[in-house]
Amino acid sequence: MGGWCAASLIAVADPTVPPVAGAVLVPVVVVPSGLMSGPTTYCWSCYARLDGDQAEVCPVCGGPVQPPQGTGFADLLLWALHHPLVGRRIAAAAALARRRELRAVEPLTVMATDPDPYLAAAAVHALAAFGGPEVDELLDRLGQVGPAPVRHAVHQVRPPGEPGAPTG
Ligand SMILES: [Zn+2]
Repeated sequence: MGGWCAASLIAVADPTVPPVAGAVLVPVVVVPSGLMSGPTTYCWSCYARLDGDQAEVCPVCGGPVQPPQGTGFADLLLWALHHPLVGRRIAAAAALARRRELRAVEPLTVMATDPDPYLAAAAVHALAAFGGPEVDELLDRLGQVGPAPVRHAVHQVRPPGEPGAPTG
């Protein structure tokens, strides 16, 4: 076994993740043995990409490569919200929304204004699962001034005519 891998955990451990999401994630992260000396992992401490069999201490940052013992699945998903691979962030956002993990709201509000409009749109979809005044206010604003994919996402989650839907 090589290092710990959030994507395989997402794909394997969360029964709410649809097969498509897992299919998107796993090939990106798990490099078949034989092509390289081991699977690709990402440092728990600094997100550095680490190929091959890993020591327990990250050669880049000196921190632990793997999450602390007892780290919960929601914590792994929250970690994945900042993953270098955008696809992993998008999958984590969706999974956290399905779980109604309230700790995700704050990082998702940041993600909703990310320069990558497709990442931001994924955050909008996730945030819609939580609702609340602050989320409503943010979605109102993004529905009017956000980039096109974000405005489109807002209109998808809040069709015109529904309470809280952006006007105009
Ligand atoms: Zn590191």
